[in-house]
Amino acid sequence: MTIQLPRFATPQIQQVIAQRSTDAQQDFAQKIPELMELERLILQHSHIVNTHTEILLESAWGNFPLYSLTLGNKNPTAPTLLMTGGMHGIERIGSQVLLAWLQTLLARLQWDSHLQQLLDKIQLVLVPILNPVGMYLNQRANGNGVDLNRNAPIDAEGRVPLLGGGHRLGPFLPWYRGRKRGKMEAENIALEVIMQRQIFNRPFAAVLDLHSGLGMQDRLWFPHAYRKKAIGNIAEYVAMKTLWERSYPNHTYLFEPQSIHYLSHGDLWDYFYYQSRAQQQPYFLPLTLEMGSWLWVKKSPRQLLNMAGLFNPQIQHRHTRVLRRHILLLDFLLAATLNHPHWLPDEKQAGIFRQTANNLWFNGL
Ligand SMILES: [Zn+2]
Repeated sequence: MTIQLPRFATPQIQQVIAQRSTDAQQDFAQKIPELMELERLILQHSHIVNTHTEILLESAWGNFPLYSLTLGNKNPTAPTLLMTGGMHGIERIGSQVLLAWLQTLLARLQWDSHLQQLLDKIQLVLVPILNPVGMYLNQRANGNGVDLNRNAPIDAEGRVPLLGGGHRLGPFLPWYRGRKRGKMEAENIALEVIMQRQIFNRPFAAVLDLHSGLGMQDRLWFPHAYRKKAIGNIAEYVAMKTLWERSYPNHTYLFEPQSIHYLSHGDLWDYFYYQSRAQQQPYFLPLTLEMGSWLWVKKSPRQLLNMAGLFNPQIQHRHTRVLRRHILLLDFLLAATLNHPHWLPDEKQAGIFRQTANNLWFNGL
């Protein structure tokens, strides 16, 4: 069965690719195959995916497009799910998980009327490779040496880990925030444009930002990163955690505020959260997935010998297992976005959930 869906033109992306030399194309295929895969998916499915080339990042290593993809309902009243990956270039597994899931989603849309009905009702926005230059260079920072998740104009209230919490010493050290009072990096400004255009103006928006962290477990983190106090929407986060854990009791994710682990400067999701609040968006619920990379390192200690190995599974069966492992979570977020009126707490439940959060994480704060 073929499903009729609206058709979108893709002249922008064709132009971007046409301007790339054969050498550059080969170089990209070797060093950032994720971008090639993304472009292949976009072109192959241009009849259902609406793609924006947000910016073309000009660098010494070539011109790198930053793409956003939109599927589903364009109506501003439709709830929205945003997924981002590759904010830290070396954590390429985040982009790979997102691309693998997108491929599945696009294949299923050919025959799965249930999924098609779901996407008729929500807007799905994807930014699979936020930091293409960093990914090309296999480094955490962007092409300017700036850590995109330390770069937002927001300072931590309290002690942050030395260097790791963000610093202004210079781009020669990791976790560099960029210059004080400077503009945000182009990648972050592009993301902010997407937020303004398609996320903050929706009654409900959830976000999943995919990363790879140094830990034994997969973690779902929600703001704050800049202070220890509970976030305004803490009741909604506890509701989402409860929904997830009741629906999938065998899951392996820890669902927690980032601040119980460490504070950091310049966190993008803290920044966007307060932008959303300033615009009186009722529900904006960003989550960061930190895939536990020690899960694969401990089985293959040789990976300790290279940086990429710390953040990305390098043995084929382990790699495909990671690509499969998070599909359930991503599908859950689609369903939770559509069905948010069924699980968002009312006033009475919210009081109980706030108390739960205090007991779990914020006692005495
Ligand atoms: Zn990261």
